[in-house]
Amino acid sequence: MTKPDIRDFTRQELAGAIAALGEKASKVDRVFNCLHKKGVATFEAMSGVQPELVKKLAGKYSIAAFPKVEKTVSKIDGTVKVLITFPDGAVSECVILFNKATVTACVSSQSGCACGCSFCATGALGLHRDLKPSEIIAQFVVCRREAGKPVDNVVFMGMGEPFMNWANVRKAILILSDNKGHNFPQSGITVSTVGVAPVIRELADSHMGIRLAVSLITADEAHRAELTPMNKKYGLAQVVEAARYYAEKTKKSVFFEYILFDGVNDRPEDAQKLLALIKGVNCKVNLIRYNPGALASAYTPTSVEKAKAFQAIMVEAGIRTHLRREKGADIAAACGQLAAARKIV
Ligand code: SF4
Repeated sequence: MTKPDIRDFTRQELAGAIAALGEKASKVDRVFNCLHKKGVATFEAMSGVQPELVKKLAGKYSIAAFPKVEKTVSKIDGTVKVLITFPDGAVSECVILFNKATVTACVSSQSGCACGCSFCATGALGLHRDLKPSEIIAQFVVCRREAGKPVDNVVFMGMGEPFMNWANVRKAILILSDNKGHNFPQSGITVSTVGVAPVIRELADSHMGIRLAVSLITADEAHRAELTPMNKKYGLAQVVEAARYYAEKTKKSVFFEYILFDGVNDRPEDAQKLLALIKGVNCKVNLIRYNPGALASAYTPTSVEKAKAFQAIMVEAGIRTHLRREKGADIAAACGQLAAARKIV
């Protein structure tokens, strides 16, 4: 039987595991620090931990080998896409985005995705498996190393629907933000969902300080149902109500993501429809011009001019609206393009 990877434990869980081995739970900080701050690759490399405890931990737990990493760099804007292959052959991708003064790591929560959104290359792959907390954190570590400088933001906008693997994503966030480990602020972490309404509410009721992005995709129910099967489970009204609940409970803005499809949902009347839908919610809107990548699609991208006109209507109505600049399109690293080089079978 495979031993559990010790890096999948939050510090609290690790303290419980140490106590279960007959050792003092207070030894947890040193062990956690070795695993996550020092990033040891073996139990033997744990410095400052009593050999007896190291032996007990090694007898019960494992530390999986670091994943294989293949990097592609955009010639247009320097965006870096990293294909990660885990020891069991599962793959995921993460992307390093360089803005003026900040570095953003866009990480995956799953290898593939079961949601099947028709505009997304990951959706076409299906789900291979959920990623474990340690595998999510490995992506952060890779991004930091490849960027050559500190990461300022972590966004769960890579492969997978984070709220369909929430237990592991939640643990990864707790481990990442632990002050005995990476100490990465929760305020710098954004989780994006295609609209798993019950988990949005669960997040609102938790004490986590992360930010929430909700992919509305479009403001028309029938159009959304065409684009994402998730809409059958959680319709637009239900998703927006959950987002409203989150914003009210946490006193934080929600990011609504809206994808502009040429001639379909980029007209002035569509902007009015979006405004009516999100009325009264403390939010910011991110506009994303549809990017088909290699997908065969009936849709085409909106022009920059139309996108700007749409943005102007939103801003005029008092909604903070950002038109996202496409990055990494030449290496299939832009929104909706992550397909792990089609390595999932
Ligand atoms: S858009 Fe997100 S939820 Fe939909 S298929 Fe792609 S990765 Fe999955």
